[in-house]
Amino acid sequence: MISVVIMTLEEALQRIHEAGRCFVIFDADTGEVLEVQESDAADAPDALLGTMGAASKVHGSVKGRFFDGAEVTLETLEHEVEESRCAAGRVAVFSRWSVLPPGELVRVLETDDFAPPMDTFHGPRHVIERIFDYSPDILLPFVRRLERIAQRTSVEQGLEAPVRLVLESKLAVLAGDFARLKTVWERHHPGTFSSLVWHPELLECIGDLRPRDPEPIEILIQTVSYPKPMMFGPRCEALRSLGKVGGPAGPRAARGIRDMIYDSTPSIMDLRECVLARIETPESEWEGCPRCYWGRVPGRPWQDDDYCAACLGLGFVR
Ligand SMILES: [Zn+2]
Repeated sequence: MISVVIMTLEEALQRIHEAGRCFVIFDADTGEVLEVQESDAADAPDALLGTMGAASKVHGSVKGRFFDGAEVTLETLEHEVEESRCAAGRVAVFSRWSVLPPGELVRVLETDDFAPPMDTFHGPRHVIERIFDYSPDILLPFVRRLERIAQRTSVEQGLEAPVRLVLESKLAVLAGDFARLKTVWERHHPGTFSSLVWHPELLECIGDLRPRDPEPIEILIQTVSYPKPMMFGPRCEALRSLGKVGGPAGPRAARGIRDMIYDSTPSIMDLRECVLARIETPESEWEGCPRCYWGRVPGRPWQDDDYCAACLGLGFVR
């Protein structure tokens, strides 16, 4: 039975101590304790899910934690309240950002200090990614402002190095400048190009350049067909980027993909077949995706990190 009366922290603490090993359901937005279940109920997964489901019907978003009652203090519960309020605050900000047009997102980057509950890494990084969901023709009027942000170096206003790398990379891609992309990465991560290129963000950027020159295409082929075991992330990003390249990737890319991208999940197999089709059918059969340019749909909800369903992230459909 789910209580609709919210307990005080002291009442919750007393019930947790009485319960011993227990599962506690919190209101995810406020951190207030909604229900304390003794371990018998908590050990049955079905009961647990049912109860979480029932709680969410009454209260909206909820979260659950297992506790050993003897170890829980008032500070433990106060910490949950603090964390939940921070998370709810972040969600409110992310939700507000997700409906802003690109010019307003640039202004957020120019003026926001990303104070708590946001932070100076995830906040600006999220904004940059959302800005660069938009197509080049929409972004071009904002390039000068974005370049100025990338060049800011003061401690108060400057971007953290990993965030600056993202922005500089995106600007290099927008300029269609592979040499600049290389320079940016060599400055942040010396030696990036002297062996296998494996940073997924970089492999994505190389694809976004839609290169026609052999050097960037060769990088993608080397990574997708790397003969030894490696993390799938880089290989998959090289695969997707070769799909962005299309025909100029050539038969060696297709061979590498067939050799090294094995049958696995349906989504990976769909992506592989789509990329092979892009490489092996005439360019004239393909057109720009109507929903996206870079592979993710502009204005998507804040928590949506998926690739565009229409083109699987390639930016082209037929
Ligand atoms: Zn698309």
